[in-house]
Amino acid sequence: MIRFNQPFETGKEIIYFQQALKAKKLSGDYTFTKKCHEWFKEEYNLNKTLLTTSCTDALEMTAILLNIKEGDEIIIPSFTFVSTANAFRLRGAKIIFADSGTNNPNLDTTKLEPLITKRTKAIVPVHYAGIACDMDEILNLAKKYNLYVVEDAAQGIDSYYKGLPLGSIGHFGTFSFHETKNVTSGEGGLLIINDEKFEKRAEIIREKGTNRSAFFRGEIDKYGWVDIGSSFLPSDITAAFLLAQLESIEFIQKKRINHWNQYYQKLKHLEEENFIQLPYIPDYATNNAHMFYLICKSITERTNLINHLKENGVHAVFHYLSLHKSVFYKDKHDGRDLQEADRYSSCLLRLPMFVDLTNSQIELITNSINQFYGK
Ligand SMILES: *Cc1c(COP(=O)(O)O)cnc(C)c1O
Repeated sequence: MIRFNQPFETGKEIIYFQQALKAKKLSGDYTFTKKCHEWFKEEYNLNKTLLTTSCTDALEMTAILLNIKEGDEIIIPSFTFVSTANAFRLRGAKIIFADSGTNNPNLDTTKLEPLITKRTKAIVPVHYAGIACDMDEILNLAKKYNLYVVEDAAQGIDSYYKGLPLGSIGHFGTFSFHETKNVTSGEGGLLIINDEKFEKRAEIIREKGTNRSAFFRGEIDKYGWVDIGSSFLPSDITAAFLLAQLESIEFIQKKRINHWNQYYQKLKHLEEENFIQLPYIPDYATNNAHMFYLICKSITERTNLINHLKENGVHAVFHYLSLHKSVFYKDKHDGRDLQEADRYSSCLLRLPMFVDLTNSQIELITNSINQFYGK
């Protein structure tokens, strides 16, 4: 069976583990955490980043930093991971779900403005498959209505919008290093802070509501409880693993982009002949090959294709179910029809994508899809 995902090992993880063990410093914010923060500064010019235990945690931190409370409204796409919504729901916010575009699952920015009310606090665009949302449109609306922008760039490492790294454009950005992402530490995340005024408080919230970070820098002579917060920082062991992966990002990306292009070459005629829809990458966006997906014409067709692939030894999977129709939120949604979000929920299919995928495996997968469509 060709797996859907398989974590990549660079070989350096174990060496960095040993170094962390030798240093006898395993909890958060030691050498490897600092090295990761420096890496993000050098590689993407991200001035202030904080490793977290997950992207979910990084999103939760943004909700605390923005003082989100009951009655506030947050606009997010319905076609996303539950954490995008839950981070704000946890603070009591009302989630206003937006529809996806017809070309790709990102927010349809032409339909956003009517969703904004006096209570709207933030827009949370999700860069689906690592392909940028139309950020200029989102930033214009944010400026016009005085809103915050939090980029859920969980899938967006090493991808760009008009030359800017994803996660660096809104007030905040968040990355995920979950096993299924391009670069992983098993579980892990990053909060990217692009507005200086949040930096100090972000450190406090991440350190259980204490000013421990300032204490360790020698800025104050004792530390204590100064704000709400939680334990959002990962151990230096996690950071050691992550650093090994980050240092191999060029290799990882080259491989993934190669796989992606191969999929595209072998399937594009099916799109040209109008059997399926393939990923659309706007001029302003780059492709970090986080995911290769195709869009079927119906849920029945997708189910049949999943089964056909399974019979041929390939594990292909669908993705999000529209959150506005979820068990938790369907009664709270305002009833608007979100047709494109539902279409991606029913018709989008993800193909295996990981570094160690081989050319012959991709050949087998694409042959099997072509055979399904009688091609
Ligand atoms: C993976 C993912 C998350 C959650 O990341 P974790 O690190 O597992 O918390 C959130 N949003 C999106 C869009 C994701 O793809």
